[in-house]
Amino acid sequence: MAKLIYPENLKYFDIISFFTEKNFDILKLREKYKIYMPIQKHTDNVIVLSQNTTPQVADGVITDKKGILIGVKVADCLPILLYDPVIKVIAAVHAGWRSTAKGILKKTVIKMSEIFNCKVSNIIIAMGPHIKGCCYEVGQEVIEALNRETPSLEYVISLNGKKHVDLAIANRIQALSIGINTENIWISSDCTYCNHVHYASYRFHGKKAGRQYGIIGIL
Ligand SMILES: [Zn+2]
Repeated sequence: MAKLIYPENLKYFDIISFFTEKNFDILKLREKYKIYMPIQKHTDNVIVLSQNTTPQVADGVITDKKGILIGVKVADCLPILLYDPVIKVIAAVHAGWRSTAKGILKKTVIKMSEIFNCKVSNIIIAMGPHIKGCCYEVGQEVIEALNRETPSLEYVISLNGKKHVDLAIANRIQALSIGINTENIWISSDCTYCNHVHYASYRFHGKKAGRQYGIIGIL
């Protein structure tokens, strides 16, 4: 049975919010709930879910609709869940390095405030299991792309002469830069590559990796 991970900063609200391990039975969840997942393409498209629930190409989804879960699927990439408990608006983001380099988390937060009048300082952010700095070796072009959007070296780690990056730290810097409160950010300590027994890791398993999920919904 795939374990569910309930983010500390979201679990006491009257919403559904969790990350999963691999082998999570999404079909069983679909029997009970309507679930919307975008067609993920490592973009910075953030859509607002309307009456039309046909999946669209996007890597971020925002909604204030009740009775429908939204989510993203990942294997090493960073899944992010957002919630404004005042206006009651949720979002789910798929942040690989490409979308992180395009500032997808910032764009999601800005869209939440523009469309729903969310106050940025009220928004709570949970980052799920992903390949962490310990295992995520990247080339110089990835660091350069990330650095253009997130000018800091805090997320770059040197290990055995190789460069690694930590996408959660890069996304945290982006979030803080637009006014998210530090205490409103939770980051899972699980690395999907280190814990490939429990998580799908594209780097470890390759194309057969499968996926885990980040899911959020207003009841
Ligand atoms: Zn690791």
